[in-house]
Amino acid sequence: MNSLNLLKIAEQFGAPLYIYDAEKISSQFQRLTNAFKGVSNLRLNYAAKALSNISILRLMDHLGSGLDTVSIQEVKLGLMAGFKPESIIYTPNGVSLEEIEEASALGVQINIDNLSVLEQFGSKHPDVPVCIRINPHVMAGGNSNISVGHIDSKFGISIHQIPHLLRIVDLTQMNINGIHMHTGSDILDIDVFLYASEILFETAKNFKDLDFIDFGSGFKVPYKAGDIETNIEELGKKLTTRFNEFCAEYGKELTLAFEPGKFLVSEAGHFLAKVNVVKQTTSTVFASVDSGFNHLIRPMLYGASHEISNISNPKGRERYYSVVGYICETDTFGSNRRISEISEGDVLCFKNAGAYCFTMASNYNSRFRPPEVLWHNGKAHLIRERETFDDILRNQVDVKELFESPEKIAAK
Ligand SMILES: *Cc1c(COP(=O)(O)O)cnc(C)c1O
Repeated sequence: MNSLNLLKIAEQFGAPLYIYDAEKISSQFQRLTNAFKGVSNLRLNYAAKALSNISILRLMDHLGSGLDTVSIQEVKLGLMAGFKPESIIYTPNGVSLEEIEEASALGVQINIDNLSVLEQFGSKHPDVPVCIRINPHVMAGGNSNISVGHIDSKFGISIHQIPHLLRIVDLTQMNINGIHMHTGSDILDIDVFLYASEILFETAKNFKDLDFIDFGSGFKVPYKAGDIETNIEELGKKLTTRFNEFCAEYGKELTLAFEPGKFLVSEAGHFLAKVNVVKQTTSTVFASVDSGFNHLIRPMLYGASHEISNISNPKGRERYYSVVGYICETDTFGSNRRISEISEGDVLCFKNAGAYCFTMASNYNSRFRPPEVLWHNGKAHLIRERETFDDILRNQVDVKELFESPEKIAAK
């Protein structure tokens, strides 16, 4: 997508808006598939929570992806988008037994991440095959909000609890058909990932009827020039060798599964917002855009650094700016960014806006959530309309009669 296309789309649909490039999603899918071409049975289950628009889910299904879901609502969205139940894995954390049973009744693969629910589910439904989420206690990446495999993490069943887990499986006679780990975002070190994989292989030997091993996700993508990204090709080579060795040892061609979110959609997304005000202060120049962390929370929530460019003036002289939002508290998209000279009314483009941007958007400050557009075969398709004032009021109950004065009531 070049800046001319982006600018035209902003003119057509108005800013702020999100735009996703279908071709980029497809090429990332191919890249991951190619990296593991040495595995006989590979399964990529797109992690819906990264970007869950139904049209994006349809694109994933069309590419041959499965779906990783973390809520019953994502399961239902996936089914509506055309995924077969058996192509969906449901990997919740800390949800009720009832929700898991509801998902199971829809025919999707259940993944359980605690012994309490495992025991209850196994006792009631011993015939339903279940995947178990293991916590290998390996620290992946540096951000403790998104690193979920370490010792203090709430995710997964600890490898130190394997004896208890085996006792439950034995007593309930339930069928464990998969084991899973997801150590969180930002895999920087392939050797750490492979180390965690060895723990998973070791655990797998305890189960006789496995169909798959799911290695989760957490592939790091570049946010700016020079950023480290997970070397998928190197990981593919090394893990393929180990996986095939393990399958030979296990005596069965298992399926190798991943559930990438960010890797598939992050770089495909652009967020466009118009500059309302350019404000010189004693210490900096602020460019205030017609948006805020209600639309793109990652800089404020995770300290994420999204590259920002001025697509209205791409060849202008570069100057330093602090790009900020309109939310009435600190709301900074980026400080001290070199951006080609900004005038009021210019459209700024935020990169890597495909994953965890729209799905984390809110109506904070009673603002509308932006539209989403899919760029496919050189054409822009609206896949979500901009909200309106009706959306702000929807589901609100106005109890105005409680606050009417006696005089007013008498006057009626
Ligand atoms: C969030 C999540 C993913 C996707 O992680 P990315 O870093 O976006 O690839 C995969 N699996 C599970 C269980 C998740 O919760």
